[in-house]
Amino acid sequence: MNPSHNAPIPGELDSSFRGVSLPDGDAEVRILAAINEIHLRHRNNHEGELPTYIPELANADPHDFAISVVTTNGHTYNVGSIDRRFTLQSIANPFVYGLVLDLLGRERVLQSVGVEPTGNPFSAIVLDRKTNRPMNPMVNAGAIAIASMIPGATPTDRLNRLLALFACLLDEKPIVNMQVFISEKSTGDRNRSIAYLMRNFKMLEANIDETLDLYFQQCSVSVTAPQLALMAATLANGGVQPRSGREVYSRRSLRDVLTIMLTCGLYESSGTWVHRVGIPAKSGVGGGFMAVVPGRMGIAVYSPKLDQHGTSVRGQRACEDLATLLNLHVFGNTEARQR
Ligand code: GLN
Repeated sequence: MNPSHNAPIPGELDSSFRGVSLPDGDAEVRILAAINEIHLRHRNNHEGELPTYIPELANADPHDFAISVVTTNGHTYNVGSIDRRFTLQSIANPFVYGLVLDLLGRERVLQSVGVEPTGNPFSAIVLDRKTNRPMNPMVNAGAIAIASMIPGATPTDRLNRLLALFACLLDEKPIVNMQVFISEKSTGDRNRSIAYLMRNFKMLEANIDETLDLYFQQCSVSVTAPQLALMAATLANGGVQPRSGREVYSRRSLRDVLTIMLTCGLYESSGTWVHRVGIPAKSGVGGGFMAVVPGRMGIAVYSPKLDQHGTSVRGQRACEDLATLLNLHVFGNTEARQR
């Protein structure tokens, strides 16, 4: 293999890594060396703030910091506080979007939720001016609309459908953090406003309280970093859970999920992220951060202090460094194959 394929492209991003050399050898040794190096590098970075608008999230331990990678052949690499649980929050959005795409089909979903990035924060009370659709399924408005489309005769049926999805992704029974659920439900007036605005425009037909409960429940699914990396690995592995071999998403829906993560996953900083790092990613105010390297690996970072956009500070930095060290940018290997 041409060694330049593994080397970071020269430039601004990797200048800080001069002097760090990963061991030669197979990709797996390099992954473990890289995450250890990155954990060491960022572990004393205490920038950012804990979120307070969902009061329970402010109780997180700001020192926690975990990095996990699960490759598409199912190997796991971990460093840091990997037993600590955190809630998915918006990281649930791409997973539920994929579920609804598979169940209802792309055309039906497109009628209700757009695919345009927004320059607005995730909780913006904004709909597309022409179509009245939420801009995309990664922001709260879009995620609430998607939750309202989960089929089922009763709220329990719909919750069971959601939990069955997470059970497939995790290959074990999912846990919903009830404290976080109650905390968000009792303070969630902004999301309630978004839901009423959508109903006003006839963009949300389901019962509002039931829809918000379901949305708050998906946000409150609680995972560890290795579990989140496994979930991301299913998105990296053509929609097939790498441990169980079970197909969770069709290829067609998966393509849409990854595309929207790439363009909209970090809300109003999505453009900067894709420019700098170039892999589909999703953040959540619970401090989790997930990225997907199609065909190769799922990446998860947990660190609860957030930047002004609601994204984990160390989550982004660690993931960016990993992408640099392992040359993961989707357009990072574009040298001509033929001259
Ligand atoms: N549950 C959170 C909310 O609705 C999710 C936001 C996020 O993770 N960005 O505000």
